[in-house]
Amino acid sequence: MEKREDAEAEPPAAAAPEVDAAAAAAAAVRDSESDSSEPDSDEEGGASGLTEMDFLKNLLSRTLNLGSEKPEKVLEELTLEGVCRFMLSEKCKRVICMVGAGISTAAGIPDFRSPGTGLYANLQQYNLPYPEAIFEISYFKEHPEPFFALARELYPGQFKPTICHYFMRLLKEKGLLLRCYTQNIDTLERVAGLSNEDLVEAHGTFFTSHCTGSFCRKTYSLDWMKEKIFSSDIPKCEKCQSVVKPDIVFFGENLPSRFFSLMKSDFHNVDLLIIMGTSLQVQPFASLVSRVPTNTPRLLINKEKTGESDSFMSLMGFGCGMDFDSEKAYRDVAWLGDCDQGCLALADLLGWKKELEELVSREHAAIDAKSGQAVGDGASASHPSAKGQQQQQQKPSPKKEDPPPNKEE
Ligand SMILES: [Zn+2]
Repeated sequence: MEKREDAEAEPPAAAAPEVDAAAAAAAAVRDSESDSSEPDSDEEGGASGLTEMDFLKNLLSRTLNLGSEKPEKVLEELTLEGVCRFMLSEKCKRVICMVGAGISTAAGIPDFRSPGTGLYANLQQYNLPYPEAIFEISYFKEHPEPFFALARELYPGQFKPTICHYFMRLLKEKGLLLRCYTQNIDTLERVAGLSNEDLVEAHGTFFTSHCTGSFCRKTYSLDWMKEKIFSSDIPKCEKCQSVVKPDIVFFGENLPSRFFSLMKSDFHNVDLLIIMGTSLQVQPFASLVSRVPTNTPRLLINKEKTGESDSFMSLMGFGCGMDFDSEKAYRDVAWLGDCDQGCLALADLLGWKKELEELVSREHAAIDAKSGQAVGDGASASHPSAKGQQQQQQKPSPKKEDPPPNKEE
């Protein structure tokens, strides 16, 4: 058990090839146009500068599992209880959360990428050359209108973080949260009380916007952008009249440099990884799970299992290598179900359930009080899509508004 520190001090030989291969492939995929102005491009360049022979060697040793010594087993058992006991021990001081759309669906935030949000059906009216164009930076620069029309349509009526978001806030208050890596752009982590420092918003955020004029880059706030979106004007810079774009990462744009700089230090230095509400399909975000030390436990709270080794993906250098069930499984735990329920279950085991529930109801009451004022002002009642938003928001509380049972005929 004490061997843990040693393993951290000198980078484990077995893990290094995995990291290099993943980094190289991620760097290659990330952007063919990634230029040398990228602050960490020298290091990324180092990874992609591997000779082909090195790359093959790494690949073979990983694929065939050569040269890897048996890693220390940190969890007593591969269950939520096992994770809980570890979290309450002295050994668990730094927790990274990796989260995706699944933690926000209960808040009524549509998952932009998943079908069923009505997104793709709605796109026809914009005469796009192909659906993805709406999120492509090159298309946006020529035709910003479709993106803003869609943003208006999908803009959440209310920003109310979920139990899962507040569970991360609790981790922070307990001094356990090293960082939250989120793929979400909905700013709910911030609303729940995580600070800039706590967060890596890997796919950017709606929280701030910038002028797209390359010499201007003036910053704009969420309130400013929201007003523009609902006034149906294309948001234009007050200084230079260029289009202003929310700081979400479009296809064809680099991920924030904060993502690349912090992942290097954070993931070598973590005692527990909690992955919630993401199917780990989007790179390079998904490859983060393979960056933790070989003995760091990984807890997945999600509707379905994901991130498991897949021979094709590992050949491509993206082997996440989660292993929940095989006889070799030693550190990965999957809790399948709703993210909020998973967090409640874990909080219960940790003895934090009451605290979490009180935090949620206190914060939600404060948000309700605020938005009650807004509704009083008529601010949110005038949104053209307010009806659709309300329907979405009612989802998390199914009991309340259920229609009466059908009358017998
Ligand atoms: Zn400007």
